[in-house]
Amino acid sequence: MKVKLIAYTPEPDKLASVAANTCYSSQSASRIIESITPEKSERIIKRVVASGHHSVIEHAVFTFSIEEVSRALTHQLVRHRIASYSQQSQRYVSMKKASYVTPKTVADNPEALERYKKLMDEIWKTYGELADMGIPNEDARYLLPNACTTNIVVTMNARELLGFFKIRTCMRAQWEIREMANRMMTEVKKVAPVIFEKAGPTCRTEPCPEPDWPCPIREKMDKLREKERKEEEERRRTERKKKDEMGIEG
Ligand SMILES: Cc1cc2nc3c(=O)[nH]c(=O)nc-3n(C[C@H](O)[C@H](O)[C@H](O)COP(=O)(O)OP(=O)(O)OC[C@H]3O[C@@H](n4cnc5c(N)ncnc54)[C@H](O)[C@@H]3O)c2cc1C
Repeated sequence: MKVKLIAYTPEPDKLASVAANTCYSSQSASRIIESITPEKSERIIKRVVASGHHSVIEHAVFTFSIEEVSRALTHQLVRHRIASYSQQSQRYVSMKKASYVTPKTVADNPEALERYKKLMDEIWKTYGELADMGIPNEDARYLLPNACTTNIVVTMNARELLGFFKIRTCMRAQWEIREMANRMMTEVKKVAPVIFEKAGPTCRTEPCPEPDWPCPIREKMDKLREKERKEEEERRRTERKKKDEMGIEG
């Protein structure tokens, strides 16, 4: 699998903070963008992301090239409707060359692997034979398995990505799409570190909605959230104290 961020809105954090600030300022976005400082921008984004005022982060969009993943993965991916997709066609592109994903559970089981490979070989052999008989790609492809590899370009805005990461980086998500979502998350964190600071599974920011399901990361995430809650409480206490002191002195 390859996951590449091939294009994105320049300075996504700054842009989203300018959009947010426009809502509360007498100045227009074209003026605000000239003067906003990175510190103010960060403060605004943290506030809007935490408060749920997420429409302002829709202005930042990200385009990924997702390569050599299975059709089983892309079938799940395209269920996410607030996105744009362009996928390699099995009508216009011949699938004569065998290319498929092998899940680890299969790869780790010699008997399963042998049977898996045997069937894949048979599928691609028959695909080639149908093609040689003049059967068009669009009909020969009916033979192809979910494991068949594909390439897809996907564009999502930051709001959709946050929601996508919540459910697809969760340990409940299927392994291949989870791996892809984690790689996408790593890429966007590099270019929009504030918007995506707390991106991750739902349990990154709130208690797991499926607490009865055994999860290997639940305890770790619960501890992380508790640590951050205490830090935030402490930060607010210090801020309040500072304000009170300034009030007394002033
Ligand atoms: C672990 C897991 C298991 C799953 N299992 C199955 C399964 O067995 N069968 C199955 O069919 N699917 C399954 N899905 C897919 C799932 O039901 C969703 O279709 C998919 O995750 C897309 O989610 P979404 O609709 O929230 O996202 P998007 O389509 O990306 O939408 C994002 C958000 O926009 C809003 N939105 C979008 N469209 C509408 C609308 N028409 N009306 C109102 N609000 C809207 C919603 O708030 C939504 O959450 C599974 C998903 C996961 C993560």
